[in-house]
Amino acid sequence: MVAQNKKENILIIGGGFSGIKAAQTLAKYSKYFNITLVSDSDNFRYYPTLFHLATGGDNKFSSIPLSEIFNNTSVKVIIGTADILDRNNKSITLTDKTVLGYDKLLLGLGVITNYFDIEGLEQYSYSIKTEARAKEFNKFLHDYIKNNKAPDSNYVVVGGGPTGIELAAQLPSYIRHLLQTHDIHHKAIHVELIEALPKLLPRLPKDYSKIISHRLNNLGVSLRLASAVTAQTNDSIIINNETVFSKTVIWTAGVTNHPFYNTNNFSMTKHNKVSVDIYLQAEDSIYVMGDNANTPNSGLAQTALHDGYFISKNLIRIAKNETPLSYKPKKIITIIPVGKHWAAVLVNKIKLYGLTGAALRHMADIEGYHSVLSWRQTIKLLLPNFKKMSGKCPYCDETINNS
Ligand SMILES: Cc1cc2nc3c(=O)[nH]c(=O)nc-3n(C[C@H](O)[C@H](O)[C@H](O)COP(=O)(O)OP(=O)(O)OC[C@H]3O[C@@H](n4cnc5c(N)ncnc54)[C@H](O)[C@@H]3O)c2cc1C
Repeated sequence: MVAQNKKENILIIGGGFSGIKAAQTLAKYSKYFNITLVSDSDNFRYYPTLFHLATGGDNKFSSIPLSEIFNNTSVKVIIGTADILDRNNKSITLTDKTVLGYDKLLLGLGVITNYFDIEGLEQYSYSIKTEARAKEFNKFLHDYIKNNKAPDSNYVVVGGGPTGIELAAQLPSYIRHLLQTHDIHHKAIHVELIEALPKLLPRLPKDYSKIISHRLNNLGVSLRLASAVTAQTNDSIIINNETVFSKTVIWTAGVTNHPFYNTNNFSMTKHNKVSVDIYLQAEDSIYVMGDNANTPNSGLAQTALHDGYFISKNLIRIAKNETPLSYKPKKIITIIPVGKHWAAVLVNKIKLYGLTGAALRHMADIEGYHSVLSWRQTIKLLLPNFKKMSGKCPYCDETINNS
């Protein structure tokens, strides 16, 4: 047991799903712990709604200030970027040279975009991996239509995973909305979704992915499967040696682990995840969680929340002189929204589609927000914002033409 007057210093790096969950769980036992959370962003990013932000949604659903989340808690929040790990002195140096010591270190840094060295992709493609990139893409969509008085010849979304599907499904109706708002009469809108493998959602059941493919077709999205992107220029993309003209390419097809782990010589698996033991411990006193750790369902917010909670619960058990538990992966519920009021649900072998799916997704998002916010904060966030419904284009103040 931790001596009563000697609290353990817990240093958490990363203010995402796993880091926040870990800090909040430990904060309930502040008699045992001093908790410091370091993040390079002062906002928590709720990734599941970034595709909405990219297609005209409200930023408040994708970005929640850490100050709001940790208001009235014992967690000390530092905005900074972790750089160097010193194992001997048990400390982390931030890029601004601040040195922070720890007794236990919890790492949940998330992943970064991987362009696989494909020529031109990093320079010319758009991404919705952060709120800044999603907003940049949204402004580009608007400006292109406003300046050219027509849509782009092709809108190309690369990556047949959940993010690519969710975004591609929203694009036809959003582009139509932008055209209508600016009084531009143009019928043809071409949205394509590109996937390198022969089916969408390669790891999920065939019939599930087939129904989603039909739904996308009905919404006006063309699919190009078994098609690899090999290069991009400022006005085209090369797919299977064919040149497709487009200034609007969105890359959602690849992520890789945070470079912090290779820079600091962690033991990595061949898939570039951090090797962890049954307690999610990478090394003595260093725990790794969420997208960074080599666990069966890594890469999902549900897993990241589960990991943060699991590690913290074990630290509390150890502080109480109880035996820590072994890690069990969380059972995953997949809910993919495909256009308005429609989502595809997969739980074990049960599959559901349509409006019921959309309702379940809505409930999952409420639970997602509530996993980091109190009920009062969650309700406040989800209450409709009548001020926003002003009927004006947010970029050029044109009155929206709903005729
Ligand atoms: C567009 C998109 C949509 C998604 N939709 C879903 C979905 O619908 N359902 C689902 O389950 N999952 C979804 N995911 C995946 C999910 O968001 C991740 O699995 C989850 O965010 C992982 O949590 P994490 O704590 O590991 O990392 P993150 O939530 O990414 O948090 C990492 C944190 O570390 C901070 N950070 C990074 N580097 C440093 C540094 N050097 N120093 C300090 N801080 C640093 C970052 O700013 C961030 O705050 C989606 C992901 C994306 C990109």
